[in-house]
Amino acid sequence: MDLPRRHQANINAPVESLDGWDGSIAYLDRDGVLNVGREDYVKNADEVVLLKGSGHAVAALRAAGFRIVVVTNQSPVNRGMFTHDDLADINQAVIELLLAENSDAHLDLILYSPYAPWEYSPVRKPGPGMLQVGRQLLSGLPLEVTFHSSMLEHKFDEGRSFMAGDRDADMGAAMQHDVRGFRVDCNVGIAGILDRLLDDNDDGDALEI
Ligand SMILES: [Mg+2]
Repeated sequence: MDLPRRHQANINAPVESLDGWDGSIAYLDRDGVLNVGREDYVKNADEVVLLKGSGHAVAALRAAGFRIVVVTNQSPVNRGMFTHDDLADINQAVIELLLAENSDAHLDLILYSPYAPWEYSPVRKPGPGMLQVGRQLLSGLPLEVTFHSSMLEHKFDEGRSFMAGDRDADMGAAMQHDVRGFRVDCNVGIAGILDRLLDDNDDGDALEI
């Protein structure tokens, strides 16, 4: 079974529990949502530029009861363009810039998919595998990955969860995981849709597939 990789931890390591959590998760794409994306990929920590307001937005989502799971496609790893260690440096730079903007901008998990498109992994967006594993880790469920979350053996309640991203693949992952999908303008980032994300009555704008 394909599994995503996890920043600075084994995928099976337990995740800290949070008192009073209602089960809601904000699944966030990374590039074009938290930091500026690049056509030729963000390849090293020096290329990480925070999208203004991302740290404040993450802090606001946490204050509203969401746990934060970053789910990022990183095919350059399996394409041989950079290593897991290079990617760890990049992810660490994102973490530090978010916290520099707002000390409450804590990310609960960063999951990434090293798979290339031709590997057809359910763990690569638009597959739902990273969202499934994020849910399972935060809820203490056994890890399992399928091509649609309705096929999972262990069911779950996603509450107010949503997926926010700047690409069709992100909206596809939202649909295949049965959560609301919100499109982010990659030039603005998540701060541009924060009001919508905090509105329980907003159904999002995932693609019809
Ligand atoms: Mg993106």
